[in-house]
Amino acid sequence: DNKEKQKKAVGNEKMLAQKETNFADWYTQTIVRSEMIDYYDISGCYILRPWSYSIWEQIQKYIDTRIKKLGVENYYFPLFVSQKALQQEKDHIEGFAPEVAWVTKSGSSDLVQPIAIRPTSETIMYPLFAKWIRSHRDLPYKVNQWVNVVRWEFKQPTPFLRSREFLWQEGHTAFATLEEAAKEVEDILNLYASVYEDLLAVPVVKGRKTENEKFPGGYYTTTVEAFVPASGKGIQGATSHCLGQNFAQMFNINFENEKKEKAMVWQNSWGLTTRTIGVMIMVHGDDRGLVLPPRVAPIQAVLVPIPYKDKDNEGLFKRAQELADQLEAAGVRIHFDDREGYTPGNKYNHWELKGVPLRIDFGPKDFEENNVVFVRRVDKSKTVVAQADIVSQVQSALEDIQKTMLEKARRERDSHIKNITEWKQLVPELDNRNIVMAPWCQDKECEEQIKKRSTIEAAAAATASKKKKRGGRGKKEEEKKEGEKKEGEGEKKEEEKKEEKKEEEKKEVNKDGTDNENKEETFEPLSSGAKSLCLPYQQPEGIEGKKCIGCEKEAKIWCLFGRSY
Ligand code: AMP
Ligand code: ZN
Repeated sequence: DNKEKQKKAVGNEKMLAQKETNFADWYTQTIVRSEMIDYYDISGCYILRPWSYSIWEQIQKYIDTRIKKLGVENYYFPLFVSQKALQQEKDHIEGFAPEVAWVTKSGSSDLVQPIAIRPTSETIMYPLFAKWIRSHRDLPYKVNQWVNVVRWEFKQPTPFLRSREFLWQEGHTAFATLEEAAKEVEDILNLYASVYEDLLAVPVVKGRKTENEKFPGGYYTTTVEAFVPASGKGIQGATSHCLGQNFAQMFNINFENEKKEKAMVWQNSWGLTTRTIGVMIMVHGDDRGLVLPPRVAPIQAVLVPIPYKDKDNEGLFKRAQELADQLEAAGVRIHFDDREGYTPGNKYNHWELKGVPLRIDFGPKDFEENNVVFVRRVDKSKTVVAQADIVSQVQSALEDIQKTMLEKARRERDSHIKNITEWKQLVPELDNRNIVMAPWCQDKECEEQIKKRSTIEAAAAATASKKKKRGGRGKKEEEKKEGEKKEGEGEKKEEEKKEEKKEEEKKEVNKDGTDNENKEETFEPLSSGAKSLCLPYQQPEGIEGKKCIGCEKEAKIWCLFGRSY
């Protein structure tokens, strides 16, 4: 029975939607069929299955060891926060209020005071910081927790990228001086960049958020911004905030300094979430499914035996098992797919969909010649490798794949960042799925105007493009009819068949438990405008003498603008 189910799963693994032309369906189908995600009956909440959760565990391990070296310790604070504590910092609560979920009842009776579910834990932890931090000897104070948080997002939920409950780590630290705090902000930002680039093979831009986009109640926010080429959108990868002394003031987090004077701490908070996994999927996946970077792939290499058609296979399978054992002993996450009742072709499709970085084919010829064949998921390249070298060859292939994936993603990302200097270039670039570097005056109002104006222009461009498309399609249909008249019945049947197939494909999609509500928008010229993504640390040359693309006043800095998730 179980086998039957498995067989069905393999049979269904044909990819339907194409990444380039139907990104939304592609994403949903990819994450459901690869068994990363399942849907749930509360919008914005998803089940993380082992194929994705184990990637989260890899990320956790990577971060956890590194922050512990920085002297951070793990804690667990409660899920709930009182209304009073949550409202302690005015800007903070203003920023988060619309997304806070409240518990108002226990059983059928109303609570006297509703309690909130943490959207983040500043207001939960800091009353305790006030109690625990007394003297300069208690500083720096470094807390982290690995937990879930809830933000009742009103934007379209998307698995991993924007869910209503998500997993993260939140670091909260306190220092005697701004300099120490600022140094840590950078250390953590570099760690986050390394999670993306070194683990997930996703290139990011490091920078500062604008005043409008910074963390509510914070002093300044730094960010790593990633980019999804298939949608042309930027996405905030993770953030490292300097909170300054706002929270310290509100929560009375004071200490006695070396001169025995009362002083206030400087604080940071920083977080990285399960969003990372979604970004990785979107950046690397292709029309055959996931493409996982070796460093986080739950299975790094899969060994697929190709049996003799009409001979005993015991020897071949025994040798395959030995090779798998060698690889496992060397620390490779290897899987020997010795399932019966599946053709090698079925198995190839299955592991391609699941994104396993390296396939090792092992057929009669390889068995007889003491070889194996490597097939890399990222570029389908094939190489024959001597069995004697299998361990070192797998290890170097995995390293090379990891590197290739980052380089490929970086080239693609770079080709989508356009430097512009004039307003009229902005919306057309967005519609080409690009983000832009543009000179900006650093004025709040101007930033809002850029968002508004580009939204209006993008909407107009989208309407115009739809009209044009409709016009175009109408003409094509007329031509088709002409053709049909000439070629008669045969043609028509072909068309009908195609339509039926399309209908079937649609049904397939719905079987995955996806529906329109859960779907990400399909790529068309979108009507959304440009948001500031960050002020990149690495600035292009020559801001002097440039005019702001928004207001044409003197530009002060190059800003990365784009559509974003
Ligand atoms: P924040 O505490 O607002 O700075 O959030 C920390 C990080 O969480 C952000 O930089 C995002 O990358 C990520 N994030 C924010 N909202 C969500 C969400 N709804 N789902 C998943 N990740 C999120
Ligand atoms: Zn301006």
